[in-house]
Amino acid sequence: MKIHFLGGVREVGGSCIAVETNYGKVALDYGTKIGEKFTNQFPRDFDAVIISHAHLDHSGSLLELSRKKSVIVGSRITRDVTTELLRDMIKIQRMNGNYFPYNYHDADNVKKSWWIRDSIALPGMLIRLYPAGHVAGAKMTSIRTEGKEILYTGDFCLHDTEILEGSKLENLPKEPEALIVESTYGGTIRLRRSELVDQLLKRILCTIERKGNVLIPSFAFHRSQEMAKRIDQAMEDGVLPKYNVYTISKLAHKITGYFNSHKQFFTKNIQKENEPFNYRHVRQLRRTKQIKEPAIVICTSGFGHAGASLYLLNEWAADENNSVIINSGYLPPDSPLKVAMEKGELIENGIKVPVRAEVEQIELSGHADQVELVQLVETLRPKSTFLIHGELEQAQALSKEISGITEVHIPEPRETISM
Ligand SMILES: [Zn+2]
Repeated sequence: MKIHFLGGVREVGGSCIAVETNYGKVALDYGTKIGEKFTNQFPRDFDAVIISHAHLDHSGSLLELSRKKSVIVGSRITRDVTTELLRDMIKIQRMNGNYFPYNYHDADNVKKSWWIRDSIALPGMLIRLYPAGHVAGAKMTSIRTEGKEILYTGDFCLHDTEILEGSKLENLPKEPEALIVESTYGGTIRLRRSELVDQLLKRILCTIERKGNVLIPSFAFHRSQEMAKRIDQAMEDGVLPKYNVYTISKLAHKITGYFNSHKQFFTKNIQKENEPFNYRHVRQLRRTKQIKEPAIVICTSGFGHAGASLYLLNEWAADENNSVIINSGYLPPDSPLKVAMEKGELIENGIKVPVRAEVEQIELSGHADQVELVQLVETLRPKSTFLIHGELEQAQALSKEISGITEVHIPEPRETISM
């Protein structure tokens, strides 16, 4: 058996790993690099392509397979959301006037090629999917072939969040021959989630007390719904006073619909509610014009470089009563949010404008940190562990922590290993 590390190696973005046996070849993820030109970088001759979750760095190259009738495997939410994100990708390329060789029909073809399965048998190969935490519908993948088992984590987390259960270690296969594991936060130990949520609610409360506006740029998939549900619940519980709260994002609203119709992916508490993502204190708006200030607004883009996020950042940044809460861990270097946070300024029409609003990053991540990564390796006891999906320093820091338990390897881009 051979494992080809095709993408998402020593970096985050464009994840793709091929597992090749005498019987066939399977891809684990088929992602794209966000912010880079769309290019065909991966082979297309797979017997099946398993998609761990709907983030485009794991699924964004699927349009390349749209005319091949490849078998794509993953959860229902991953299918539905991936299709929406691919459509959105096509829309953005068209709006920007870029040449793009795919259309909405291709996105629909991806949906049609999808097999919603938790296990699938191919000649000489048994594939099983396990809940991974991270975002709704995310799965880890185990492949049993040639008497060996490989476990690929995709992106995962072990702790429960407000709407999603973490991956359950007791359910995962023990002592696999190889563990292929993300290392995004391999060198980072984070505060506990409850402390971060306290920080967030405190920041919102302080702004409410001075009747300011709160801008929360969030990704349309999962982060937006998680944030809205968290604030909605805090108002229901009396932790926050009633205030105008809005979400603005057509894409997020569409995805919220999928969340309501697939409650089974979420925590038991969420499942008890009839339509858990029809919030009691949060309204969905189509346009920023409809906002009644003061307000809390959860909107796209998550990086603040476009859409309602950018518009409101420009509108609200000069007022010291307002605050901006960034919940993404990563921000591109040229992101207006990053410049506002680090330099205290915004560039509007080529002119520097000082930022007086409070800008704070409170990272409510869906990734395992070093503690959870080590816990995973200690529990599963893999013979070999391959660290991917992380900057080299993060992977190296994790490697030091686990090298007493397992043989660790940080593959080079495009490296192939034989087992
Ligand atoms: Zn992800």
